Amino acid sequence: MRIGIDFDNTLIDYDDSFVQVARELGWPPPPGSSGKNAVREFVRGLEEGENKWRRLQAAVYGPRIGHARLRDGVRPFLEQAASRGATLFVVSHKTRFAAGDPDQLCDLRQAAAAWLWQQGLLAPAGPGIPPEHLFFSMTREDKVARVAQLRCDIFIDDLPEVFTDPGFPPTTRRILLDPWGDLPTDPAWERCPDWQAITRLLFA
Ligand SMILES: [Mg+2]
Repeated sequence: MRIGIDFDNTLIDYDDSFVQVARELGWPPPPGSSGKNAVREFVRGLEEGENKWRRLQAAVYGPRIGHARLRDGVRPFLEQAASRGATLFVVSHKTRFAAGDPDQLCDLRQAAAAWLWQQGLLAPAGPGIPPEHLFFSMTREDKVARVAQLRCDIFIDDLPEVFTDPGFPPTTRRILLDPWGDLPTDPAWERCPDWQAITRLLFA
């Protein structure tokens, strides 16, 4: 079984990180704010908000990626996948530099790879993802072409747009991670609220 996995918001959870990094940059969101969307709304409402929001994203996905968390349930999923002999890939749509990093100071792909190493998710052997199975794409079109080229039996993502892309391989099973329960239902995909549900769905 060949399983492809998205990176941003699927493996990695930036929700607390947005609040924390906004505070560090001197734009503390109102108490009780949580999650990317609440912070985006707040920061965009500030003077030069659009610019600030781009800088905040550049920091969260780049130099401050260490503030982000691994989603609950990923490790048990990887252990189950390894015990079933599944082959894992990470396929991420990620540009090399953020729009809010005009001097190109932080390579976002290197930051993501370093985070995966720190979490112990990239592993040459045993449970985990072989380092040579980590792929980055410039565009969504490139991403779905990679999923097709890797002949993934299953792909796990938090964005329905990936699954509805015309290039998405029709025979790949689509699993939508929907942690907030606000994504659409569609016969084309199976929706799971968390990694525990994905693990049950695939390995129970
Ligand atoms: Mg994602």
